[in-house]
Amino acid sequence: MSIKKTEGIILKKIKWSETSNIVTLYSKDFGKLKLLAKGVQRLKSSFSGGLELFGLIDFVFYKRGKKNLYILSSSDLVSSYPLIFSSVERYGVASAGIELLDKLLAGEEKNEDIYSLLVDFLSKVQDLDKKNLEKFLWAYSLKLLSLLGYKPRFDECVKCGKRGKSLKATSSGFLFFSSDLGGIVCPTCAKGDKLYFRLTRSQLNWIRRVLDSSLDRIEKLELEKREVKNIGDLILDFLSYHTGFGKELKSLEFLKKISLGKEES
Ligand SMILES: [Zn+2]
Repeated sequence: MSIKKTEGIILKKIKWSETSNIVTLYSKDFGKLKLLAKGVQRLKSSFSGGLELFGLIDFVFYKRGKKNLYILSSSDLVSSYPLIFSSVERYGVASAGIELLDKLLAGEEKNEDIYSLLVDFLSKVQDLDKKNLEKFLWAYSLKLLSLLGYKPRFDECVKCGKRGKSLKATSSGFLFFSSDLGGIVCPTCAKGDKLYFRLTRSQLNWIRRVLDSSLDRIEKLELEKREVKNIGDLILDFLSYHTGFGKELKSLEFLKKISLGKEES
């Protein structure tokens, strides 16, 4: 493989030896890449601006041998997000979003929409009002799932196909959601079965609007704190069922420890 040049976001960095690191990047042109960066600890390295977590870099790399590991030959820092590191809540949300992406992407598949989503996600996590962070994380997760082809059905009952006005909530205002069936279930189809998630009409509307809006508009889509939490639980359950992880994400454990969900808005 010849020498290639692209840009990417640093998802993960581990120390490989005294002088080298292995970095995992999500790149614009080649998808997810694992690269060996030699000599990073030297005072004068080829990695200008450093290789910090979440940093957006322009970089040059090549492949040596048959291993799935590339060599990072040089890089320049384009953007970094220092404010993310100055707040545990921002850091927790950014880490959760990155970990989710890293886990969901298996190979080197290029997807420019995912790349743009990731860049927008990090710049918003840096700027957002803290009270909107959790809501934003779930909005990003919904969009990511949708881009990866895991999108649950939120437009019609997955059992009978009722949609629009004929898709009615219960008298107390609930609809249902099933992770294994992959979408919403109307009250008639959910009768007698207790294994469904309950979803209010306003939660369902919020999800639909998120999927139709850009990340920039998420702040304006109002939703109560406990409703945000319910949507988070639903997404994690769906992820657990379809990918084998979700509730086990390490960064979500961290978010729970800092009680992001409990913070009053
Ligand atoms: Zn139905």
